[in-house]
Amino acid sequence: MERLEEALKAWREVLGSEQVLVDAGTLEAVQTATFATAQRVPAVLRPGSREEVQACLRIAHELRVPVFPVSAGRNYGYGSRVPARTGSVVLDLGRMNRVLDWDEDLAYLTVEPGVTFAQAHAFLEEHGSHLQLATIGGPPQASLVGNALERGDGGGPHGDIFQHVCDLEVVLPTGELLRTGLGRYPGARSGVVLRWGPGPGLDGLFSQSNLGVVTRMTFWLAPRAAAVRIISAPLESAAQLPAVVDGLRVLRVEGTLREAYSLWNDYKMLSVLGQYPWEQAGGRTPLPESLRKSLLEEQGLGPWHLSFLLQAPSEEQAQAAWHRAEAVLRGAAPSLACYREEEVEPEALRRVPSARNLRMMYWRQRSPMPAQPDPDRDGCGFVWLSCAVPMKGAHVERALAIAEPLPLQFGFEPNLCLLGVGTRCAYLVVALVYDRRVEGEDARALDCYQALQEAMNGAGYYPARLGIQAPVLGATAEDDSARVLGALKAALDPHGILAPGRYLPSP
Ligand SMILES: Cc1cc2nc3c(=O)[nH]c(=O)nc-3n(C[C@H](O)[C@H](O)[C@H](O)COP(=O)(O)OP(=O)(O)OC[C@H]3O[C@@H](n4cnc5c(N)ncnc54)[C@H](O)[C@@H]3O)c2cc1C
Repeated sequence: MERLEEALKAWREVLGSEQVLVDAGTLEAVQTATFATAQRVPAVLRPGSREEVQACLRIAHELRVPVFPVSAGRNYGYGSRVPARTGSVVLDLGRMNRVLDWDEDLAYLTVEPGVTFAQAHAFLEEHGSHLQLATIGGPPQASLVGNALERGDGGGPHGDIFQHVCDLEVVLPTGELLRTGLGRYPGARSGVVLRWGPGPGLDGLFSQSNLGVVTRMTFWLAPRAAAVRIISAPLESAAQLPAVVDGLRVLRVEGTLREAYSLWNDYKMLSVLGQYPWEQAGGRTPLPESLRKSLLEEQGLGPWHLSFLLQAPSEEQAQAAWHRAEAVLRGAAPSLACYREEEVEPEALRRVPSARNLRMMYWRQRSPMPAQPDPDRDGCGFVWLSCAVPMKGAHVERALAIAEPLPLQFGFEPNLCLLGVGTRCAYLVVALVYDRRVEGEDARALDCYQALQEAMNGAGYYPARLGIQAPVLGATAEDDSARVLGALKAALDPHGILAPGRYLPSP
């Protein structure tokens, strides 16, 4: 406590009192996520520059006060901006929101951590750029940097976002500074266009980790294509799914399909199209089977829904890609009959994330999503579990045999999505959606999450990303990764002040 007071005094001297927040309203907000958390946050720091971040960390290091960095703090479903451990001061990087560099020819954008998806889109628009950002299906006010560091995913050819970044500027927990690529050399011209310099590549160390605070990152962008097709197809039966996945893998590996496909199940479709039919369900949850069937019929939905985009530099190439995709998918799943292929204007690639993306978080709420949604404030219960599944029909079937029945046992609809973000690996993303104001639901959701994660791990489908409630990466009998990562953590953060409990064990 004494050290905290001393640290607050030192931070106020560096940042000014107005950027060291301790008022009850702010603290209440940063302690609230979309699931139950008990962590207390003593203060929020709002540095405005890399130098201020360095000073903040030096103080934290010297006085042994833990800090937890967020870029925009919209990590909904994984913990929002609540620190993984109680007593951590939130280091909110939202004020550092400058676009630092942009080159239309070399197709990159360099930003500070507070730059949001909405802001980056607006920047490209204002500058008449013909480049596209990978667009997340999440909140427009989320940050490019926070998302990339979580190894987030988006639409567009660069949908596996962390694969398309470079030249990270990182402040270490001691306040030291490093650049991850060629950018470390004076006058280097290729730092923003080459991921590697001579020697070991360090980028990966700072994603899904607690080894440093990233204060600058370069994103490679894709040109907006001249010809675009949107393909969507409802599956008539879940039995078609494995064959469809096998066909999609062929298209992903050979490169016809240059970006992620989505397969959404019916519950997910219903949750984006409307809210829980409380009246028809007589107040019961989960959704009664007869009601599920009648809603699907009403809305013309199948049990699963496939959609993807084909982008090409010319009409002829788009046409050829479509013929190839159709032939492969029809070969894999001949009964997959009713595709809808739509030619769209390249304008469609200005896919600015919209607040409407948050609608599914309000599925179990009793009132509609407000004009200014804030799922933490609004009591939306929401937990994600994202698992890595090899892109083969048989694996998907095995993983779904766990992910479909388990949520129902806990009273939740199995809201599922299979995202073909990689070329060989898909993410099976489960959303547990509920109303936090209903007694007992918070505890049930976390029990369900844990049961799901254990069952998926047991089947060999480990998580691709972790929420703050998940245990840190643990040791296994035959592998020394946990020990090695622990040694790295101890070397870079000897007092364990940076984001304790987040991904890596503390010294
Ligand atoms: C309906 C819905 C749809 C979604 N769709 C998507 C989607 O399509 N793709 C996707 O990827 N996610 C999606 N999400 C999840 C999430 O909202 C996004 O990933 C979002 O981008 C994360 O929030 P943020 O950018 O504000 O990150 P932050 O909360 O700022 O950061 C996330 C984490 O990264 C670390 N971190 C952040 N900044 C730094 C830094 N500068 N240095 C070191 N560590 C740092 C911290 O551990 C932090 O907890 C969705 C969520 C919802 C509810």
